[in-house]
Amino acid sequence: MLNVFASGIFGVIVGDAAGVPYEFKERDSFQCDDMVGWGTHLLPPGTWSDDSSMTLATMESIVRRGRIDTADIMGNFDGWLSRAEFTPYDDVFDVGNATYKAICRYQQGTEPELCGGTGERDNGNGALMRILPLAFVNCSEKEIFAVCSLTHGHLISKLCCLYYVYVARNIMLGYNKVEALQFAWQKLADYCHDMPPEIQTVNGAWNWQRGEVQSSGYVIHTLQAALWCFYNTASYRECILTAVNLGDDTDTVAAVAGGLSGLYYCLNGKDESEQIPGEWIAKIARREYIVGLCNKFAALING
Ligand SMILES: [Mg+2]
Repeated sequence: MLNVFASGIFGVIVGDAAGVPYEFKERDSFQCDDMVGWGTHLLPPGTWSDDSSMTLATMESIVRRGRIDTADIMGNFDGWLSRAEFTPYDDVFDVGNATYKAICRYQQGTEPELCGGTGERDNGNGALMRILPLAFVNCSEKEIFAVCSLTHGHLISKLCCLYYVYVARNIMLGYNKVEALQFAWQKLADYCHDMPPEIQTVNGAWNWQRGEVQSSGYVIHTLQAALWCFYNTASYRECILTAVNLGDDTDTVAAVAGGLSGLYYCLNGKDESEQIPGEWIAKIARREYIVGLCNKFAALING
């Protein structure tokens, strides 16, 4: 049995790995029924990508430093991109444009929290996909924004990260899905009185029809799609297969949905069949390293 932190983190990583073989494929041009390998990047089953690498890089920094240290987290991101640290097979095969540019700015001496692009077009899903560990630590909205800004400095990206953290925290407080989503929305509206219209489209996206849900790498689409998958499915497995089968940015939509779903069924699942399938975890590259990091993280949080 995984502890609650490991359920969230493996929720991200298993979702990422399930989506990797189908990344960029058009919706309904394929059918994903299980965790497989090869496909888009020609990698074996259980290979996870940047989403998981950056999540683990964030966690490792928090465990080692015992707090949120943005400069240290950025150092880990650089270690990932430059030296393939936090990767399954010492290889970086997937990196988003905004993240790449931000790490280059860091290498050229820009202050870490100023590295993320601040333009409207800098709103890929690269911060949202790695933000889950912040739901587990006692940190402020300002700190969540700062960690987001390392690679994504626009308000839309920051608010997507904040909303996601709120939802994850609500799940951990024991709320059901509707409560977790709605209470988080109220909290976001209380925190930000002048929400951009793009962000407002996230509220209630979980009630849309499948045809209305877009699953691109734009952070708003990824968040809408992930919430829709989380809300409309009844087990972790169903959530991930539903996410991957939306096509396009399959690994990140599945990773973002998987974080919430992993947490939710760990705490609320009627039986183990609703939780992350053991045979999927068994395929995950470097799973012992990940379990070890989650245990250290749990020890830090539970003090
Ligand atoms: Mg990826």
